Amino acid sequence: MDLEHLVVATGNAHKTAEIAVVLGDLVQQVEDLRAYPEVGEIAETGTTFLANARLKALGASAALGDRVWVLADDSGLEVDALGGAPGVYSARYSGEGATDASNRAKLLEELAAVGARGKGRSARFRCVLVLARGGDEVATFDGAVEGVIANGEKGEGGFGYDPLFIPEGECATFGELPAATKNAMSHRGRALAGLRAWLGEGK
Ligand code: IMP
Repeated sequence: MDLEHLVVATGNAHKTAEIAVVLGDLVQQVEDLRAYPEVGEIAETGTTFLANARLKALGASAALGDRVWVLADDSGLEVDALGGAPGVYSARYSGEGATDASNRAKLLEELAAVGARGKGRSARFRCVLVLARGGDEVATFDGAVEGVIANGEKGEGGFGYDPLFIPEGECATFGELPAATKNAMSHRGRALAGLRAWLGEGK
């Protein structure tokens, strides 16, 4: 089965681009909520990635009806030395008006404040995907990638915390690695592999 027309329940162009590349010819048309301003802001009031992914998938799907598939991605970075922060608050870590750059700066400050070094900077990215149609949940998938937080920013690729995250088995950050390398091992890539397999089974 393929998804024909897919709307990603996000305004984050980076997420949408990664999802479109990994799904490839399993989708004919990929859009996101930038094309549907009438859907409005969906409040992420959950305390888990799954809860927030459900809020986004079901909210957008109810508004868009059964003419399109909706896929929500809720994702974030868990840093062990910070008790799992920023976690579900990854996008808003540095408070009101947070940007990717201000969030990365805050992360480096917090790790310096607790004196985390080397393997003490262990972390993981997590991603939960919820697929919905007509306001109903159809399937969920998740993925994670282990790594460590670098001492400073490296690389211009990707988005969010990518210039700070060195995945297990690599010596470079996601910001330095080619996009295809990131997609092959990332939390999002792994969750999407679950979706690809599910589609391949003819679901
Ligand atoms: P969400 O839109 O609420 O799911 O927030 C996701 C946030 O987690 C993003 O704004 C980034 O800060 C971070 N994040 C999620 N996935 C990635 C990734 O692949 N690379 C870097 N940062 C990510």
